Amino acid sequence: MRPKPIYGAPCNNCGLCCVVSQCPISLLVFGPREGRCPALEPDGLGGFRCGFVDHAEGDYRKPAELMIGAGHGCDMAGTPQDYAEREKRRPHIIRQARREEEALTPDQRRIFLAWKTAAVAKIRPIQPGPTSPLPSGHGAPGKPPGEAEH
Ligand code: SF4
Ligand code: SF4
Repeated sequence: MRPKPIYGAPCNNCGLCCVVSQCPISLLVFGPREGRCPALEPDGLGGFRCGFVDHAEGDYRKPAELMIGAGHGCDMAGTPQDYAEREKRRPHIIRQARREEEALTPDQRRIFLAWKTAAVAKIRPIQPGPTSPLPSGHGAPGKPPGEAEH
């Protein structure tokens, strides 16, 4: 497995985030579980990709990308340096996620909000924390340290 880059650096598809924890959509679809997310798939190039996003078609693709925090760089925080970087980048990540949500078409937005609402409802009883969560990916509500781009 490739070494994980620092938080916020371009995602290299190492897959570590999805091996050690689940993002909100994974918790929603598969429920809480040990081990790697069942949606994680080899990319044929020595890395991994999110099958949930890769198999999402049409109006489901964009909402799926938003749910996993795609395009935000490495979103798994594991080291003190990662956590420091995450705090530094938090306002930018939240702004970027808002812009992405605003750019959705009405149909995409309906899908995204339905998934997000269902994921939060499922996750909150499992893991109440953090009070100021990141909006998506592995840093979203319920996710133990980490977030994902692929
Ligand atoms: S991003 Fe989420 S759904 Fe996709 S492989 Fe990782 S944990 Fe699973
Ligand atoms: S987001 Fe996940 S797959 Fe991408 S570099 Fe970070 S740990 Fe690796």
